Amino acid sequence: MIPKTRIVNLPVYEPGKPIEDVKRELGLTEVIKLASNENPFGCSPRVKETIVSQLDNLPIYPDGACLELRSALASFLNVKEEELIFGNGSDEIVMLLARAYLEPGTNTIMAAPTFVVYKTNATIEGAEVIEVPCVEGKHDLNGMLAKVNENTRVVWVCNPNNPTGTIVTEEELIRFLDQVPEHVLVVLDEAYVEYVKDDAFPRSLELLRKYKNLIILRTFSKIYGLAALRVGYGIAAEEIIDKLNRVREPFNVNHLGQKAALAALADQEFVARCKAANMEGLEQVYAGLDEIGVPYYRSETNFVYAIVERDTKEVFQEMLKQGVIIRAFPQAIRVTIGSKEQNEKMLAALKAVLAPAKQ
Ligand SMILES: *Cc1c(COP(=O)(O)O)cnc(C)c1O
Repeated sequence: MIPKTRIVNLPVYEPGKPIEDVKRELGLTEVIKLASNENPFGCSPRVKETIVSQLDNLPIYPDGACLELRSALASFLNVKEEELIFGNGSDEIVMLLARAYLEPGTNTIMAAPTFVVYKTNATIEGAEVIEVPCVEGKHDLNGMLAKVNENTRVVWVCNPNNPTGTIVTEEELIRFLDQVPEHVLVVLDEAYVEYVKDDAFPRSLELLRKYKNLIILRTFSKIYGLAALRVGYGIAAEEIIDKLNRVREPFNVNHLGQKAALAALADQEFVARCKAANMEGLEQVYAGLDEIGVPYYRSETNFVYAIVERDTKEVFQEMLKQGVIIRAFPQAIRVTIGSKEQNEKMLAALKAVLAPAKQ
């Protein structure tokens, strides 16, 4: 058989290790996963009630237009219903963007390191991927701008950036948007927007009014705690939404996901509580890292990128033996902020793993 040439060497996405696998492999009774930026506090209790109430509807196809959720979210965000698109996670919207805007002969620009899904999808579509290294963990928007040419179709700005946790400010973003040619689509991935506390963060919904080549991506997977149900969304001018709808599968967002997202959206108190707990957790983790002497970037998200001066794969393996699943990058590890107890356990494990090298 002869598959598409450009997919043959694509890396298979490695998800954070499942807790049960680690328990079995290592014979541990208690394992915590701080690898995928999931919400340690679960989701709103209203979601559970909603899901139970929907169990008789499983034989029925979901609403392909997500009408109820669309209406609620449009009011919540104060945008038009036609300015929204829903996906099987915002991952799917990344895929739709690549399908709709990228092809051989075009190029696309992104930071490095950033969310890997952009590169994978761009490669599948045969576009050239141009990666511009981050500076101190931040997007180098001027460097990215310098790479734009007539073949550029999409520029990805992950804000806050995964895995570094840093932000592009409103001032920086506006300066950038003012210089990006109109034929280039700018994707602003705001998967962690609900965690941001810095006032300099862009009021991106307002920017949509001025910049017609902008799409914002958000998700119910992170602070809303619904990663298992796969609901993400995009907000953009109708012209962009129309193109994405042309390449979208008819029933891409499942029924339980739609209902759960609706219930989760209505419980903003839960979101506020998670944000506050996360801010405390960040301080706890900063203090712990300071104590161990590991440098890190201050984060506007629910994870911290810590620059360990060790082989990160080794650190990952040793943390695993201590019952803590983290994420290894070539130069750093990324740890999700957990509950207070989880953070304590993670910091104790990290200290045990890194201390021998420090002495
Ligand atoms: C987690 C994440 C997403 C995707 O989340 P979905 O579960 O697919 O909605 C998108 N972008 C970034 C930067 C993320 O970290």
